[in-house]
Amino acid sequence: MIIEKKIDPILHRQKCHACGYYTIYEAIPTGDTATDTCTYCGHQVQLNWYSDLRAAIKSNEKWFKDMAAVVPELDQLKNRGDHILLD
Ligand SMILES: [Zn+2]
Repeated sequence: MIIEKKIDPILHRQKCHACGYYTIYEAIPTGDTATDTCTYCGHQVQLNWYSDLRAAIKSNEKWFKDMAAVVPELDQLKNRGDHILLD
């Protein structure tokens, strides 16, 4: 009997290099790696689960927190498909 550990997808904010928007990314674990997908354009990247992902989220969140003080719109990125274009 195989018991699969169910892990919920992780939603996090990130600048997407494919579409150029600041968007919500959704990380879905698949074994030792995770597929991180732009919820706006569908661009996918593979990350090591969970170390790479954790580092990426940590540095992104710090950046977003700092930037949200200047650009409050960034705090509105919350749901799948949300996207903001900044210069
Ligand atoms: Zn994208």
